[in-house]
Parts: sequence; structure tokens; C-alpha cells
Amino acid sequence: MLKVGVTGGIGSGKTTICKIFESLGIPVYYADLEARRLIQEHPVLVEGYRKLFGEKAFEYGKLNRSHVAKMIFHDPELILKVNALVHPVVREDFFQWSRRQNAPYVIEEAAVLLEGGGNHLLDKIILVSAPENVRIARVVRRDGMSEEQVLKRMKYQWNDDKKRLFCNFEITADDNHLVVPQVLKIHFELLQIWDC
Ligand code: ATP
Repeated sequence: MLKVGVTGGIGSGKTTICKIFESLGIPVYYADLEARRLIQEHPVLVEGYRKLFGEKAFEYGKLNRSHVAKMIFHDPELILKVNALVHPVVREDFFQWSRRQNAPYVIEEAAVLLEGGGNHLLDKIILVSAPENVRIARVVRRDGMSEEQVLKRMKYQWNDDKKRLFCNFEITADDNHLVVPQVLKIHFELLQIWDC
């Protein structure tokens, strides 16, 4: 079974693309979603979050998001520490999950896949790209964030040019290209690779 990563900047359309792969019967592991679960469940992450954010990190067993966000706002470097803590645990969870799947290939969807060096453990990587101004407009519309808030998040993600160097396929998910034919083309290429 091949392990395929799908990555792209905030608002690029990763999740939308992965839903199309799912409709083709391909299992998708949504790393950001699973990370949110693991932070509250996995002993290494619970302990690590307490160390980074203090006893207030959790309230009634749930992550105290406003406390964590406030601390990160005052010390943005904490994001790097959070990533270093969370990525290996999520990666291991992904591998355990993939062993339970029965498909020619599985997908791990993650916004910061390459930044954490996780690409080395994957067979192929797909970049989902869209121009920065399009992505900002999408996230502002989708989440009601301000443009500054989106730009702040982007600061911790590599730009597409840098990501492209590590990717085997690219899906252009701007407002001018149809995405379904692009997904189908890659899907059949991956099936061929798996078949060899
Ligand atoms: P994030 O990293 O913030 O989770 P994402 O990369 O997963 O974002 P999506 O949630 O799939 O991106 O898409 C962001 C927004 O853009 C959504 O509102 C979605 O409906 C819209 N969108 C996604 N792809 C396209 C497209 N090709 N054309 C127009 N709108 C799109």
C-alpha cells in the first residue's frame, strides 16, 4: 500500500481535494483533526502541553484553547515547540491507522507536512496550490478571520515554491482550473505505481 501526503497552505483547498479522493474509495487521514483528538488523549501530548502551557492547558479534560492561543500570541515561537511535540505522535498514529486500511493507497492530509520533515516517510506527495490572495479571501470568507490573522498563520508555513521542491504532483486549485480531472489523473497514476 502506498502512503501519499496531501499538503498545501492554509485555504489552498486540501480538504476539498481529499473529499474527492475519498469519493474514489481512498481512505484519508486528516492530520490536523486527529492531532486535536490526540492532544487531549495521548499521554505524551497531555504531559507535553502541560509542560509548555502550564496546568491551565486543560480544563475538565479539554484543551483550554483560549489560554493556549493567548500564550502563543505572546510567544509565537511556541508554535515550533508544539509542532515538534505533536508531529511524531500524529505520524505514529497515522501509520497505525494505515495498517488497518485496505486500499491501493492511503492519504495523509496535513497543512504542515513538509515543514516537520514527515515527507521522508511517505511514498508520494501532492501539493494543492492556489495564489496567496485567493487563499486569504477564502479563509476570511470561511472562518471570518481578518486578513492579518491569515497572514500570521501563513508565516509558519513554507511558500508553494519551497514546497514544490519536495512534491511529486501538483493540483492547481485556484478559481480557473477544474480540480476533478486533476485528481482523477493523479489517482490513475498512483494506481499504476501501486500495480507495478
Ligand atoms: P485549511 O488549511 O485552512 O484547513 P484547506 O486547504 O483544507 O484549508 P479547504 O477547506 O478545502 O482548504 O478550502 C478552503 C475554502 O475554499 C473552502 O471554503 C472551500 O469551499 C473553498 N475552495 C476549496 N477549493 C476551491 C476551489 N478549487 N475553487 C473555489 N473554492 C474552493
